[in-house]
Amino acid sequence: MANTAGAPVRAGSRNSNPITIGVLALQGDYEAHVRAFKSAGARTVLVRKPEELAGLDGLVMPGGESTTMLKFLEKGGFFDALGRFASTTPCFATCAGVILLAREVLNPTQRSLGVLDATVERNAYGRQIDSTILTLPTELAGGPLEMVFIRSPRITRVGKNVQVLARRDDAPTLVRQGHLLAATFHPEMTADTRVQQLFLDMVRAHKAG
Ligand code: GLN
Repeated sequence: MANTAGAPVRAGSRNSNPITIGVLALQGDYEAHVRAFKSAGARTVLVRKPEELAGLDGLVMPGGESTTMLKFLEKGGFFDALGRFASTTPCFATCAGVILLAREVLNPTQRSLGVLDATVERNAYGRQIDSTILTLPTELAGGPLEMVFIRSPRITRVGKNVQVLARRDDAPTLVRQGHLLAATFHPEMTADTRVQQLFLDMVRAHKAG
């Protein structure tokens, strides 16, 4: 159907080549990401096997327990397939997803895909304040962003190709490295879809080449 004047142009439906966002659904809060991307106007599919990465334009790596996700990934070549995928295709990681994506994981050390040039410390905000909601400044247009932190990792180092888009105290909370976007908080748990929109822009730009 033709788009009538004034009707919103939905992500993925602006031409005959729609974008498809996979959501890694091994464990964790992947359903919340599906809802958030639906409200941001994107088509999503759940990914539970390495072969389901084929043909995706981008992938969400949700929060949850990185140790549990690793157990699933270490079966059937999924870990290596995901590493290859993330080194070339847009990925949006939140919380445990950031732990999977990072080059170095501390507290304790843990195997990771190593594509995001950052060091992360797991559960680094301490027991009392390990879950909290803060509204903090960001480089994104539209003013401060509400950030939900749940037993979050802290990014303690980023490489020179990593752009910091928001911080909590001195620690980066939202970072971008080329085709990778990573948040130590949970953008899928608020009504604000600016982070999802940024990722969709990255995916469209990557697809356009
Ligand atoms: N503490 C979790 C981990 O280390 C991450 C928490 C989250 O994803 N909300 O994997």
